[in-house]
Amino acid sequence: MKAQDYPPAMRELIDCLCRLPGTGRRSAERLTLWLLQHGKTDAQNLSAALIRAVEQITACPRCGFYSTGEELCPACADPTRDASLLCVVEQPTDVLPIERSGSFHGLYHCLGGKLSPLDGVMPEQLSIPKLMERVKEQPGCEVILALGSDVEGDATALYLAEQLEKLPCTISRLAQGMPAGAGLSQADSITLLRAIQGRTRI
Ligand SMILES: [Zn+2]
Repeated sequence: MKAQDYPPAMRELIDCLCRLPGTGRRSAERLTLWLLQHGKTDAQNLSAALIRAVEQITACPRCGFYSTGEELCPACADPTRDASLLCVVEQPTDVLPIERSGSFHGLYHCLGGKLSPLDGVMPEQLSIPKLMERVKEQPGCEVILALGSDVEGDATALYLAEQLEKLPCTISRLAQGMPAGAGLSQADSITLLRAIQGRTRI
């Protein structure tokens, strides 16, 4: 006798949902049941939004923040932004907490990670050459290293400071207010505001 199981299409959906971060099998089953019980519109909207995002969202060709197609992101395309201030972050998700703090009107550069030799993340895996190019194109600019305050964030900041020292720029780093061992995405906007205002030259 064959044991009863979900039909193939349901199993496939559960398997796909299981692969999402933080989603175990039970949660994936709950989500699947919810989607099937709430009529077709929610499920169709979800699937259309997913396909649109996957097909259209790219990295901004200049800073690496999220963009659409070949376009520059809104910050890079905004001529009123202060191009002499360049804020370097680990991930594109670190940009929005800084934007929401309302304390920064310069441009961003997303590295795409932080140096971590143990995990195989070396300088060539990060968007460092592009950063150097941008700094050369803007002599006299200030580069703010807005990296996390963990060991890898520190190592990345140190490495970048060494590389940037050869270029015509000043280098600063978020100083106070950042919680130890945490990334930017966990900081609230007041903490970030203080950290940006209290940055120190290195
Ligand atoms: Zn951009």
